Amino acid sequence: MSDKTEAELLKEQLFIKREHGSKCVDEPTLTKVDEFADSYKKFLDTAKTEREFVIHAIEQASSLGFTEYDSSKQYNAGDKVYINNRRKAVILAVIGKAPAEAGVRIAAAHIDSPRLDLKPNPLYEADEMAFLKTHYYGGIKKYQWMSIPLALHGVIFRKDGVSISINIGEDEGDPQFCIPDLLPHLATEQMKKPVSSAFTGEGLNVLIGSREFKSEKGAELVKLNVLKLLYDKYGIIEEDFLSAELELVPAGKAVDIGLDHSMIGAYGHDDRVCAYPALQAIAELAEAPEYTCISVLADKEEVGSMGNTGLQSAYLRDFIYDLAEAQGGSGSKALAKSACLSADVNAAYDPNFADVFEKRNAAYINHGICVTKYTGSRGKGGTSDASAEFMFRIRTLFDEDDILWQTGELGKVDAGGGGTVAQYVANLNVDVVDIGVPVLSMHAPFEIVSKIDLYMTYQGISSFFRAR
Ligand code: MN
Ligand code: MN
Repeated sequence: MSDKTEAELLKEQLFIKREHGSKCVDEPTLTKVDEFADSYKKFLDTAKTEREFVIHAIEQASSLGFTEYDSSKQYNAGDKVYINNRRKAVILAVIGKAPAEAGVRIAAAHIDSPRLDLKPNPLYEADEMAFLKTHYYGGIKKYQWMSIPLALHGVIFRKDGVSISINIGEDEGDPQFCIPDLLPHLATEQMKKPVSSAFTGEGLNVLIGSREFKSEKGAELVKLNVLKLLYDKYGIIEEDFLSAELELVPAGKAVDIGLDHSMIGAYGHDDRVCAYPALQAIAELAEAPEYTCISVLADKEEVGSMGNTGLQSAYLRDFIYDLAEAQGGSGSKALAKSACLSADVNAAYDPNFADVFEKRNAAYINHGICVTKYTGSRGKGGTSDASAEFMFRIRTLFDEDDILWQTGELGKVDAGGGGTVAQYVANLNVDVVDIGVPVLSMHAPFEIVSKIDLYMTYQGISSFFRAR
Protein backbone atom coordinates (compact mmCIF):
# COMPACT_ATOMS: atom_id res chain seq x y z
CA MET A 1 0.00 0.00 0.00
CA SER A 2 1.52 3.35 -1.04
CA ASP A 3 1.51 6.02 1.62
CA LYS A 4 1.36 8.70 -1.05
CA THR A 5 -1.66 10.99 -1.16
CA GLU A 6 -3.94 11.03 -4.16
CA ALA A 7 -2.56 14.44 -5.07
CA GLU A 8 1.01 13.10 -4.99
CA LEU A 9 0.12 10.17 -7.19
CA LEU A 10 -1.75 12.42 -9.61
CA LYS A 11 1.20 14.81 -9.75
CA GLU A 12 3.50 11.92 -10.62
CA GLN A 13 1.15 10.98 -13.40
CA LEU A 14 0.40 14.43 -14.80
CA PHE A 15 3.25 16.84 -14.07
CA ILE A 16 6.30 17.20 -16.29
CA LYS A 17 9.51 15.98 -14.62
CA ARG A 18 12.70 18.03 -14.73
CA GLU A 19 15.68 16.21 -13.38
CA HIS A 20 19.24 17.23 -12.62
CA GLY A 21 21.69 14.90 -14.34
CA SER A 22 23.15 13.79 -10.99
CA LYS A 23 19.82 12.16 -10.12
CA CYS A 24 19.46 10.07 -13.27
CA VAL A 25 22.98 9.45 -14.62
CA ASP A 26 24.40 6.28 -13.04
CA GLU A 27 28.04 5.72 -12.04
CA PRO A 28 29.13 3.68 -15.10
CA THR A 29 27.66 6.39 -17.34
CA LEU A 30 29.41 9.11 -15.32
CA THR A 31 32.73 7.35 -16.00
CA LYS A 32 31.96 7.52 -19.73
CA VAL A 33 30.96 11.17 -19.31
CA ASP A 34 34.39 11.97 -17.84
CA GLU A 35 36.28 9.97 -20.45
CA PHE A 36 34.45 11.69 -23.28
CA ALA A 37 35.09 15.08 -21.65
CA ASP A 38 38.83 14.34 -21.44
CA SER A 39 39.06 13.47 -25.12
CA TYR A 40 37.04 16.59 -25.97
CA LYS A 41 39.39 18.82 -23.98
CA LYS A 42 42.42 17.38 -25.78
CA PHE A 43 40.75 17.93 -29.13
CA LEU A 44 39.84 21.54 -28.23
CA ASP A 45 43.47 22.34 -27.45
CA THR A 46 44.52 21.35 -30.95
CA ALA A 47 41.51 22.73 -32.85
CA LYS A 48 40.92 26.38 -31.98
CA THR A 49 40.11 27.51 -35.53
CA GLU A 50 37.95 26.04 -38.27
CA ARG A 51 41.06 25.14 -40.27
CA GLU A 52 42.60 23.26 -37.34
CA PHE A 53 39.31 21.48 -36.67
CA VAL A 54 39.13 20.29 -40.28
CA ILE A 55 42.71 18.97 -40.20
CA HIS A 56 42.15 16.96 -37.01
CA ALA A 57 38.69 15.74 -38.02
CA ILE A 58 40.01 14.36 -41.32
CA GLU A 59 43.05 12.90 -39.55
CA GLN A 60 40.80 10.96 -37.17
CA ALA A 61 38.33 9.98 -39.89
CA SER A 62 41.09 8.75 -42.22
CA SER A 63 42.47 6.53 -39.48
CA LEU A 64 38.98 4.95 -39.25
CA GLY A 65 38.69 4.21 -42.94
CA PHE A 66 37.06 7.37 -44.31
CA THR A 67 38.26 8.25 -47.81
CA GLU A 68 37.90 11.41 -49.89
CA TYR A 69 34.54 11.43 -51.68
CA ASP A 70 34.54 11.03 -55.45
CA SER A 71 31.16 11.85 -57.03
CA SER A 72 31.90 9.62 -60.02
CA LYS A 73 32.30 6.53 -57.83
CA GLN A 74 29.68 4.00 -56.71
CA TYR A 75 29.51 3.57 -52.96
CA ASN A 76 28.09 0.67 -50.96
CA ALA A 77 26.43 0.44 -47.58
CA GLY A 78 29.01 0.97 -44.84
CA ASP A 79 31.43 2.98 -47.00
CA LYS A 80 32.81 6.05 -45.24
CA VAL A 81 33.63 9.25 -47.07
CA TYR A 82 34.58 12.85 -46.38
CA ILE A 83 34.60 16.11 -48.31
CA ASN A 84 37.16 18.74 -47.39
CA ASN A 85 35.55 22.04 -48.38
CA ARG A 86 38.43 24.50 -48.86
CA ARG A 87 40.09 23.36 -45.60
CA LYS A 88 37.47 25.29 -43.60
CA ALA A 89 34.43 23.02 -43.55
CA VAL A 90 34.05 19.27 -43.74
CA ILE A 91 31.36 16.71 -44.53
CA LEU A 92 31.71 13.18 -43.14
CA ALA A 93 29.30 10.48 -44.23
CA VAL A 94 28.64 6.78 -43.78
CA ILE A 95 26.59 5.25 -46.59
CA GLY A 96 23.40 3.57 -45.41
CA LYS A 97 21.66 0.35 -46.45
CA ALA A 98 18.71 2.28 -47.82
CA PRO A 99 19.25 4.39 -50.96
CA ALA A 100 19.84 8.12 -50.42
CA GLU A 101 16.44 8.70 -52.02
CA ALA A 102 14.88 7.23 -48.86
CA GLY A 103 16.31 10.22 -46.99
CA VAL A 104 19.54 10.86 -45.10
CA ARG A 105 20.26 11.74 -41.46
CA ILE A 106 22.22 14.95 -40.97
CA ALA A 107 23.96 16.38 -37.93
CA ALA A 108 25.00 19.98 -38.65
CA ALA A 109 27.31 21.99 -36.40
CA HIS A 110 29.73 24.86 -36.92
CA ILE A 111 33.45 25.02 -36.25
CA ASP A 112 34.08 28.77 -36.41
CA SER A 113 34.02 30.81 -33.20
CA PRO A 114 34.10 34.52 -32.33
CA ARG A 115 37.64 35.88 -32.45
CA LEU A 116 39.82 38.78 -33.60
CA ASP A 117 40.93 38.58 -37.23
CA LEU A 118 43.93 40.56 -38.43
CA LYS A 119 43.23 43.36 -40.91
CA PRO A 120 44.96 43.07 -44.31
CA ASN A 121 47.40 45.81 -43.22
CA PRO A 122 47.73 44.98 -39.55
CA LEU A 123 51.21 45.98 -38.43
CA TYR A 124 52.09 49.48 -37.19
CA GLU A 125 54.26 51.23 -34.69
CA ALA A 126 52.99 53.86 -32.28
CA ASP A 127 55.26 55.57 -29.75
CA GLU A 128 57.85 52.79 -29.79
CA MET A 129 55.39 49.92 -29.49
CA ALA A 130 54.33 47.62 -32.32
CA PHE A 131 50.67 46.64 -32.68
CA LEU A 132 48.40 44.56 -34.92
CA LYS A 133 45.10 46.06 -36.11
CA THR A 134 42.21 43.61 -35.80
CA HIS A 135 38.68 43.28 -37.12
CA TYR A 136 36.52 41.24 -34.79
CA TYR A 137 34.64 38.23 -36.17
CA GLY A 138 31.23 37.32 -34.76
CA GLY A 139 29.36 38.77 -31.81
CA ILE A 140 31.73 39.74 -29.01
CA LYS A 141 31.66 41.92 -25.90
CA LYS A 142 34.83 43.83 -26.72
CA TYR A 143 35.94 44.49 -23.15
CA GLN A 144 36.24 40.73 -22.56
CA TRP A 145 39.12 40.61 -25.04
CA MET A 146 41.26 43.22 -23.27
CA SER A 147 44.03 42.18 -20.87
CA ILE A 148 43.91 38.49 -21.65
CA PRO A 149 46.68 36.39 -23.24
CA LEU A 150 46.07 35.82 -26.94
CA ALA A 151 47.56 33.37 -29.45
CA LEU A 152 47.97 33.86 -33.20
CA HIS A 153 46.65 31.09 -35.48
CA GLY A 154 46.15 30.90 -39.22
CA VAL A 155 47.75 30.75 -42.61
CA ILE A 156 49.92 33.20 -44.52
CA PHE A 157 51.13 32.84 -48.09
CA ARG A 158 54.65 33.82 -48.97
CA LYS A 159 55.26 35.57 -52.27
CA ASP A 160 56.78 32.34 -53.65
CA GLY A 161 53.44 30.57 -53.09
CA VAL A 162 54.45 28.59 -50.03
CA SER A 163 51.73 28.59 -47.39
CA ILE A 164 52.87 28.87 -43.80
CA SER A 165 50.74 27.59 -40.92
CA ILE A 166 50.98 29.90 -37.96
CA ASN A 167 50.40 28.84 -34.36
CA ILE A 168 52.14 31.12 -31.86
CA GLY A 169 51.25 31.29 -28.19
CA GLU A 170 50.05 27.79 -27.33
CA ASP A 171 53.27 25.88 -26.65
CA GLU A 172 55.29 26.10 -23.44
CA GLY A 173 57.67 29.04 -23.77
CA ASP A 174 55.85 30.58 -26.75
CA PRO A 175 55.33 34.34 -26.65
CA GLN A 176 51.70 35.48 -26.39
CA PHE A 177 49.95 38.70 -27.28
CA CYS A 178 47.63 41.11 -25.48
CA ILE A 179 45.44 44.19 -25.82
CA PRO A 180 46.37 46.41 -22.85
CA ASP A 181 43.44 48.05 -21.05
CA LEU A 182 43.37 51.37 -19.24
CA LEU A 183 44.36 51.41 -15.57
CA PRO A 184 41.44 52.20 -13.18
CA HIS A 185 43.38 55.17 -11.79
CA LEU A 186 42.96 56.99 -15.11
CA ALA A 187 39.65 55.49 -16.20
CA THR A 188 37.32 58.11 -14.70
CA GLU A 189 35.95 59.14 -18.10
CA GLN A 190 36.02 55.60 -19.57
CA MET A 191 34.00 54.24 -16.65
CA LYS A 192 31.22 56.79 -17.23
CA LYS A 193 30.55 55.47 -20.74
CA PRO A 194 28.11 52.66 -21.53
CA VAL A 195 30.03 49.42 -22.11
CA SER A 196 28.90 49.41 -25.76
CA SER A 197 30.74 52.66 -26.49
CA ALA A 198 33.61 52.48 -23.98
CA PHE A 199 35.35 49.86 -26.10
CA THR A 200 35.58 50.24 -29.88
CA GLY A 201 36.54 47.93 -32.73
CA GLU A 202 39.39 50.26 -33.66
CA GLY A 203 40.62 50.07 -30.09
CA LEU A 204 41.26 46.32 -30.30
CA ASN A 205 44.95 46.71 -31.16
CA VAL A 206 47.18 43.86 -30.14
CA LEU A 207 50.63 44.48 -28.68
CA ILE A 208 53.21 42.44 -30.59
CA GLY A 209 56.60 43.99 -29.74
CA SER A 210 58.49 46.76 -27.98
CA ARG A 211 62.22 46.33 -28.71
CA GLU A 212 63.95 48.30 -31.46
CA PHE A 213 66.08 46.88 -34.23
CA LYS A 214 69.58 48.12 -33.35
CA SER A 215 70.37 51.12 -35.51
CA GLU A 216 72.03 54.51 -35.07
CA LYS A 217 69.13 56.24 -36.80
CA GLY A 218 65.81 55.60 -38.49
CA ALA A 219 62.12 55.51 -37.58
CA GLU A 220 59.76 52.51 -36.97
CA LEU A 221 62.55 50.38 -35.60
CA VAL A 222 60.25 48.37 -33.32
CA LYS A 223 58.05 47.47 -36.29
CA LEU A 224 61.22 46.65 -38.26
CA ASN A 225 62.39 44.35 -35.48
CA VAL A 226 59.05 42.51 -35.47
CA LEU A 227 59.17 42.08 -39.25
CA LYS A 228 62.78 40.89 -39.09
CA LEU A 229 61.82 38.22 -36.51
CA LEU A 230 58.94 37.06 -38.72
CA TYR A 231 61.20 37.03 -41.76
CA ASP A 232 63.90 35.02 -40.00
CA LYS A 233 61.41 32.43 -38.74
CA TYR A 234 58.91 32.17 -41.62
CA GLY A 235 60.42 34.06 -44.56
CA ILE A 236 57.44 36.39 -44.71
CA ILE A 237 57.42 40.09 -45.50
CA GLU A 238 54.86 42.78 -44.62
CA GLU A 239 53.15 42.49 -48.01
CA ASP A 240 52.29 38.84 -47.27
CA PHE A 241 49.76 39.97 -44.64
CA LEU A 242 47.59 41.21 -47.54
CA SER A 243 46.61 37.67 -48.49
CA ALA A 244 46.79 36.07 -45.03
CA GLU A 245 44.09 34.65 -42.81
CA LEU A 246 45.31 35.18 -39.27
CA GLU A 247 43.17 34.98 -36.17
CA LEU A 248 43.85 35.96 -32.57
CA VAL A 249 42.21 33.56 -30.15
CA PRO A 250 42.50 33.25 -26.37
CA ALA A 251 45.72 31.41 -25.47
CA GLY A 252 45.66 28.42 -23.17
CA LYS A 253 44.11 25.03 -22.72
CA ALA A 254 40.67 23.71 -21.80
CA VAL A 255 40.35 23.04 -18.08
CA ASP A 256 37.94 21.51 -15.59
CA ILE A 257 35.79 24.00 -13.71
CA GLY A 258 34.51 23.38 -10.19
CA LEU A 259 35.86 21.37 -7.26
CA ASP A 260 33.63 18.55 -8.48
CA HIS A 261 35.21 18.71 -11.99
CA SER A 262 31.66 18.81 -13.37
CA MET A 263 32.24 21.48 -16.01
CA ILE A 264 34.73 22.44 -18.72
CA GLY A 265 36.03 25.97 -19.27
CA ALA A 266 37.53 26.74 -22.68
CA TYR A 267 37.57 29.03 -25.68
CA GLY A 268 35.27 28.04 -28.54
CA HIS A 269 32.73 25.64 -27.01
CA ASP A 270 30.37 27.43 -29.42
CA ASP A 271 30.18 25.32 -31.42
CA ARG A 272 32.91 22.71 -31.00
CA VAL A 273 30.97 21.32 -28.04
CA CYS A 274 28.42 20.14 -30.65
CA ALA A 275 30.79 19.67 -33.60
CA TYR A 276 32.99 17.27 -31.61
CA PRO A 277 30.05 15.01 -30.62
CA ALA A 278 28.84 15.11 -34.25
CA LEU A 279 32.32 14.08 -35.39
CA GLN A 280 32.58 11.25 -32.86
CA ALA A 281 29.05 10.00 -33.58
CA ILE A 282 29.81 9.63 -37.29
CA ALA A 283 33.36 8.36 -36.74
CA GLU A 284 32.23 5.48 -34.53
CA LEU A 285 29.54 4.13 -36.91
CA ALA A 286 31.20 0.76 -37.38
CA GLU A 287 28.50 -0.99 -39.41
CA ALA A 288 26.30 0.34 -42.14
CA PRO A 289 23.43 2.38 -40.69
CA GLU A 290 19.92 2.00 -42.09
CA TYR A 291 20.01 5.47 -43.63
CA THR A 292 23.03 7.37 -44.89
CA CYS A 293 24.38 9.47 -42.03
CA ILE A 294 26.11 12.80 -42.54
CA SER A 295 27.93 15.12 -40.18
CA VAL A 296 28.46 18.53 -41.74
CA LEU A 297 30.82 20.77 -39.81
CA ALA A 298 30.48 24.22 -41.26
CA ASP A 299 32.33 27.51 -41.24
CA LYS A 300 30.98 31.10 -41.05
CA GLU A 301 27.97 30.49 -38.77
CA GLU A 302 29.05 33.34 -36.52
CA VAL A 303 28.75 35.81 -39.39
CA GLY A 304 25.54 34.51 -40.97
CA SER A 305 26.62 31.27 -42.69
CA MET A 306 27.49 33.22 -45.85
CA GLY A 307 30.12 32.22 -48.38
CA ASN A 308 31.16 28.94 -49.94
CA THR A 309 32.14 27.33 -46.64
CA GLY A 310 29.04 28.47 -44.73
CA LEU A 311 25.81 26.47 -44.70
CA GLN A 312 24.07 28.86 -47.07
CA SER A 313 26.45 27.47 -49.70
CA ALA A 314 25.36 24.66 -52.03
CA TYR A 315 27.93 22.09 -50.89
CA LEU A 316 25.68 20.07 -48.57
CA ARG A 317 22.80 20.04 -51.08
CA ASP A 318 25.15 19.12 -53.92
CA PHE A 319 26.61 16.21 -51.95
CA ILE A 320 23.16 14.75 -51.24
CA TYR A 321 22.17 15.21 -54.89
CA ASP A 322 25.36 13.52 -56.04
CA LEU A 323 24.80 10.59 -53.66
CA ALA A 324 21.21 10.10 -54.82
CA GLU A 325 21.95 10.51 -58.51
CA ALA A 326 24.91 8.13 -58.44
CA GLN A 327 22.39 5.49 -57.27
CA GLY A 328 19.98 6.44 -60.07
CA GLY A 329 17.76 8.29 -57.61
CA SER A 330 16.49 11.81 -57.23
CA GLY A 331 18.22 14.46 -55.12
CA SER A 332 15.04 16.37 -54.39
CA LYS A 333 13.30 13.21 -53.17
CA ALA A 334 16.29 12.47 -50.96
CA LEU A 335 16.13 15.92 -49.37
CA ALA A 336 12.35 15.82 -48.87
CA LYS A 337 12.71 12.63 -46.80
CA SER A 338 15.78 13.72 -44.88
CA ALA A 339 16.03 14.77 -41.24
CA CYS A 340 18.57 16.96 -39.50
CA LEU A 341 19.70 17.78 -36.00
CA SER A 342 21.06 21.31 -36.11
CA ALA A 343 23.57 21.01 -33.29
CA ASP A 344 24.47 24.34 -31.75
CA VAL A 345 24.81 25.75 -28.28
CA ASN A 346 22.04 27.42 -26.33
CA ALA A 347 22.22 29.91 -23.47
CA ALA A 348 22.36 28.20 -20.09
CA TYR A 349 20.30 29.75 -17.32
CA ASP A 350 22.55 31.86 -15.10
CA PRO A 351 21.16 32.90 -11.69
CA ASN A 352 23.45 35.95 -11.76
CA PHE A 353 21.61 37.23 -14.82
CA ALA A 354 18.21 35.78 -14.00
CA ASP A 355 16.25 38.73 -15.39
CA VAL A 356 16.98 37.93 -19.05
CA PHE A 357 15.76 34.33 -18.74
CA GLU A 358 12.28 32.87 -18.47
CA LYS A 359 12.89 30.18 -15.88
CA ARG A 360 10.19 27.79 -17.03
CA ASN A 361 11.58 27.67 -20.56
CA ALA A 362 15.30 28.11 -20.05
CA ALA A 363 17.99 25.46 -20.55
CA TYR A 364 19.93 24.43 -17.44
CA ILE A 365 23.41 23.00 -17.18
CA ASN A 366 23.43 19.32 -16.17
CA HIS A 367 19.90 18.78 -17.49
CA GLY A 368 21.12 17.17 -20.68
CA ILE A 369 20.93 17.91 -24.37
CA CYS A 370 18.72 20.92 -25.08
CA VAL A 371 16.09 20.56 -27.81
CA THR A 372 14.96 23.93 -29.14
CA LYS A 373 11.83 23.96 -31.29
CA TYR A 374 12.51 27.45 -32.62
CA THR A 375 15.16 30.16 -32.29
CA GLY A 376 15.00 33.68 -33.74
CA SER A 377 14.23 36.98 -32.06
CA ARG A 378 11.08 38.97 -31.21
CA GLY A 379 8.16 37.24 -33.01
CA LYS A 380 10.33 34.20 -33.86
CA GLY A 381 11.99 36.29 -36.59
CA GLY A 382 14.46 34.22 -38.58
CA THR A 383 13.61 30.75 -37.31
CA SER A 384 12.70 27.57 -39.13
CA ASP A 385 10.49 26.36 -36.21
CA ALA A 386 10.45 22.54 -36.09
CA SER A 387 7.04 20.94 -36.62
CA ALA A 388 5.13 19.20 -33.84
CA GLU A 389 5.53 15.98 -35.84
CA PHE A 390 9.31 16.23 -35.93
CA MET A 391 9.55 17.37 -32.29
CA PHE A 392 7.50 14.31 -31.33
CA ARG A 393 9.78 12.04 -33.33
CA ILE A 394 12.92 13.36 -31.59
CA ARG A 395 11.23 13.35 -28.16
CA THR A 396 10.24 9.72 -28.62
CA LEU A 397 13.68 8.73 -29.87
CA PHE A 398 15.53 10.39 -26.98
CA ASP A 399 13.11 8.93 -24.40
CA GLU A 400 13.46 5.42 -25.83
CA ASP A 401 17.25 5.65 -25.83
CA ASP A 402 17.48 7.10 -22.29
CA ILE A 403 19.01 10.35 -23.47
CA LEU A 404 18.80 13.02 -20.77
CA TRP A 405 17.21 15.96 -22.57
CA GLN A 406 15.41 19.23 -21.92
CA THR A 407 13.90 22.06 -23.87
CA GLY A 408 15.18 25.61 -23.77
CA GLU A 409 14.49 28.96 -25.36
CA LEU A 410 17.23 31.54 -25.82
CA GLY A 411 16.17 33.95 -23.07
CA LYS A 412 13.02 35.97 -22.55
CA VAL A 413 10.82 36.68 -25.57
CA ASP A 414 11.89 40.29 -26.08
CA ALA A 415 15.31 40.13 -24.43
CA GLY A 416 17.21 39.55 -27.70
CA GLY A 417 17.66 36.31 -29.58
CA GLY A 418 19.73 34.57 -32.20
CA GLY A 419 19.66 31.95 -34.92
CA THR A 420 21.51 28.86 -36.04
CA VAL A 421 22.13 26.98 -39.30
CA ALA A 422 18.79 25.16 -38.84
CA GLN A 423 16.96 27.53 -41.19
CA TYR A 424 19.43 26.97 -44.06
CA VAL A 425 19.10 23.19 -43.89
CA ALA A 426 15.31 23.48 -43.46
CA ASN A 427 15.21 25.67 -46.59
CA LEU A 428 16.48 22.63 -48.52
CA ASN A 429 13.15 20.95 -47.64
CA VAL A 430 14.56 18.90 -44.76
CA ASP A 431 12.98 18.33 -41.32
CA VAL A 432 15.23 20.12 -38.84
CA VAL A 433 15.28 20.79 -35.12
CA ASP A 434 17.88 22.59 -33.02
CA ILE A 435 19.64 20.56 -30.35
CA GLY A 436 22.77 21.25 -28.35
CA VAL A 437 24.67 22.03 -25.20
CA PRO A 438 23.71 24.87 -22.82
CA VAL A 439 26.65 27.27 -22.34
CA LEU A 440 27.47 29.78 -19.60
CA SER A 441 29.24 32.98 -20.81
CA MET A 442 28.53 32.16 -24.44
CA HIS A 443 30.81 34.05 -26.89
CA ALA A 444 33.18 35.07 -24.08
CA PRO A 445 36.87 34.18 -24.56
CA PHE A 446 36.28 31.52 -21.90
CA GLU A 447 32.97 29.64 -22.02
CA ILE A 448 31.63 27.00 -19.63
CA VAL A 449 29.67 23.79 -20.31
CA SER A 450 28.65 20.76 -18.26
CA LYS A 451 30.29 17.41 -18.98
CA ILE A 452 26.98 15.58 -18.66
CA ASP A 453 25.37 17.81 -21.31
CA LEU A 454 28.33 17.29 -23.65
CA TYR A 455 28.03 13.51 -23.32
CA MET A 456 24.26 13.53 -23.76
CA THR A 457 24.65 15.55 -26.96
CA TYR A 458 27.02 12.90 -28.27
CA GLN A 459 24.57 10.16 -27.23
CA GLY A 460 21.66 12.06 -28.78
CA ILE A 461 23.36 12.42 -32.16
CA SER A 462 24.45 8.76 -32.05
CA SER A 463 20.93 7.58 -31.38
CA PHE A 464 19.62 9.77 -34.22
CA PHE A 465 22.15 8.18 -36.60
CA ARG A 466 21.25 4.65 -35.46
CA ALA A 467 17.47 5.13 -35.55
CA ARG A 468 15.59 3.11 -38.13
MN1 MN B 1 26.81 28.58 -32.39
MN1 MN C 1 27.72 31.68 -31.63
